[in-house]
Amino acid sequence: MALSLQDAYGRSISYLRISLTDRCNFRCVYCMSESMQFLPRRDLLSFEEIVTVVKTLIPAGLRKVRLTGGEPLQRRDIGDLVQALAALPGLQELAMTTNGSHLARWAEPLHRAGLNSINISLDSLQAERFHHLTRSGRLADVLAGIAAAAALPWARRRLNALILRDRNDDEIVALAAFAEEQGFDMAYIEEMPLGQIQEHDRALQQVASAEILATLEHAWGKLTPLAWGSGGPARYFQRPGARQRIGLISPHSHNFCADCNRVRLTAEGRLLLCLGQEDALDLRAVLRQQGEAAVLPAVQQALQRKPFGHTFDLEQPVQIRRYMNMTGG
Ligand code: SAM
Ligand code: SF4
Repeated sequence: MALSLQDAYGRSISYLRISLTDRCNFRCVYCMSESMQFLPRRDLLSFEEIVTVVKTLIPAGLRKVRLTGGEPLQRRDIGDLVQALAALPGLQELAMTTNGSHLARWAEPLHRAGLNSINISLDSLQAERFHHLTRSGRLADVLAGIAAAAALPWARRRLNALILRDRNDDEIVALAAFAEEQGFDMAYIEEMPLGQIQEHDRALQQVASAEILATLEHAWGKLTPLAWGSGGPARYFQRPGARQRIGLISPHSHNFCADCNRVRLTAEGRLLLCLGQEDALDLRAVLRQQGEAAVLPAVQQALQRKPFGHTFDLEQPVQIRRYMNMTGG
């Protein structure tokens, strides 16, 4: 088979999102149920195994890796992993998505180790509301993390907010203004039906990207759509004269599957071919039973089964039982 990562629809896969752990110090209401059972640590991929997978896929076209979770900063020695991945020739972007709560300690060492892009999730600037949405988080910790990250020269930095009706939709403009003040792009995510949650009705609390855009334009005037993309699913807009970009991630209202360039590695080493479908390759078994040389052929073969796209429907009972913390958001 040729040295490439193409699926059956001719899409080239250049982006791997890796969930380093399903554990998290928060329990965000849209991401997890209140009581979660986490994987035993022995089931997680080791850092060596993760580096092997990435190293093996780079010659076939992998260019971007995002470290996520769960909360990636829950894994000890995260600095060593970042350093090892950053040293791999051919990897152009090494990014992380984090809840920011441990970033005051980690921003500088991770940047020094070679992380060059960071997304920090922030759904509210109100401490009590933040605590409710995360079921445990302290806003002050995250703001300290954002301040530490703001002081560093990342290639890309962005804040992410998931907007829920009557929960934080009154903060759409305030969040973007705060992000701009701190020197971050801002992105808004539509909630996806991953895992069974009781806390709210996803169909009722969904806020579509178009409404978010209208709210921003009501406050600021027309935003210009940008041709620029960050290599992920966000569509970007900009205020005339502003440096900040506004991203909209719209799995429901503006399906992005046709341009999909990514696959996900779950914390226990399943290579998920699509965020919204269950089919996966057990890459941990391939690595442990057949060894490094079997990884690329197994991935290439699995990519031929990559579905065209997700079929999320908020009106139907949840189809995907796996929560976002397993998936690697
Ligand atoms: N813990 C880190 C964080 O919160 O940034 C990284 C993992 S978290 C799963 C990554 C992103 O997924 C967060 O920005 C979060 O808002 C988003 N997310 C979680 N559950 C989601 C869901 N059901 N639908 C859409 N996005 C979700
Ligand atoms: Fe944790 Fe991130 Fe999920 Fe919130 S969204 S519970 S911070 S993994």
